[in-house]
Amino acid sequence: MTAIDIDLDYAGAQAAPEPVVRCDNLVHVYGVPGSEVAALRGIDLQVRAGEMVALLGPSGSGKSTLLWHLAGLLQPTAGTVHVCGRQLSTLNNRQLADLRKRDVGVVLQNAGRNLLPYVSALDNVRAVRRELTAEALTPHELLDAVGIGSLAHRAAARLSGGEKQRLAVAIALANLPTLLLADEPNSQLDAASSHDVIALLRDVNTRFGTTIVVVTHDTAVSETMDRTVSIRDGRIGAAGMGGEQFLVVGRDGSVQLPAELNDLLPSGSLLRAEPLDDGSAGVILRRVDGAAPNDAPDHGRHRRPGT
Ligand code: ADP
Ligand code: MG
Repeated sequence: MTAIDIDLDYAGAQAAPEPVVRCDNLVHVYGVPGSEVAALRGIDLQVRAGEMVALLGPSGSGKSTLLWHLAGLLQPTAGTVHVCGRQLSTLNNRQLADLRKRDVGVVLQNAGRNLLPYVSALDNVRAVRRELTAEALTPHELLDAVGIGSLAHRAAARLSGGEKQRLAVAIALANLPTLLLADEPNSQLDAASSHDVIALLRDVNTRFGTTIVVVTHDTAVSETMDRTVSIRDGRIGAAGMGGEQFLVVGRDGSVQLPAELNDLLPSGSLLRAEPLDDGSAGVILRRVDGAAPNDAPDHGRHRRPGT
């Protein structure tokens, strides 16, 4: 890259607006010393205004933990989270509650947690509603949009799992948030209803410019997203754009190889990294001939004292 390229990139970065979400080296460890679980191991993530991003990853990879951080519901073990320009760890509980009321709509994974059980669906939406511009959807319109308009007067506790999920989405959208966070909002829905909920999110995204981060297992859903971010073992390993998957290089230079390469390059393999010699930006990883993982020099690690 030439010096001029670097200058141009820098100018572009200066002009770019602050992203709605920014995580810098976010680390989260659960538990007490002796029985800790490192759920997030240095997440770097930016989501720009108006983007619709899917978080993918196997169960236990850290998706919900990341979403809870974006919602200001957890304190980072290390690293920082900025949402709507504010660093969350500098806000007190009242300021965080205010942020969730005005700027951030949250659909938690267990839909029931988002609801007042003995109150009607309609009053659940009204309860969180503040005065809004005329263009915002009314509580009735929101219930219609998520497909439970006919259940407006039923108590939330008497809704099915899928209906609760839809109501949770309606509540999260009630205040026309800048950022919508949704943790598997379609996990209890059949394919058609799941499609409806995602179509609603896309509609909100297009109409109001709402930035959306949605956790999902459903690959059909992720195909409709602007971008996908895949988490494995608490790290961002891959990103998807335009139907193609890319690996993401971490700030420590690490790369998570796709699982289908595990046979070729099992854990512990010795590799030689060679820059491509045709001038294009890239590296070839070549397994060192004959070196199986167990041949790796162990520097006496496994030797017992005295042997
Ligand atoms: P995902 O949403 O991708 O399934 P989670 O963020 O829920 O993953 O969990 C990531 C890791 O953190 C898992 O190993 C999980 O067991 C662990 N974990 C989640 N919540 C807690 C908790 N409250 N206490 C201890 N460990 C937890
Ligand atoms: Mg989860």
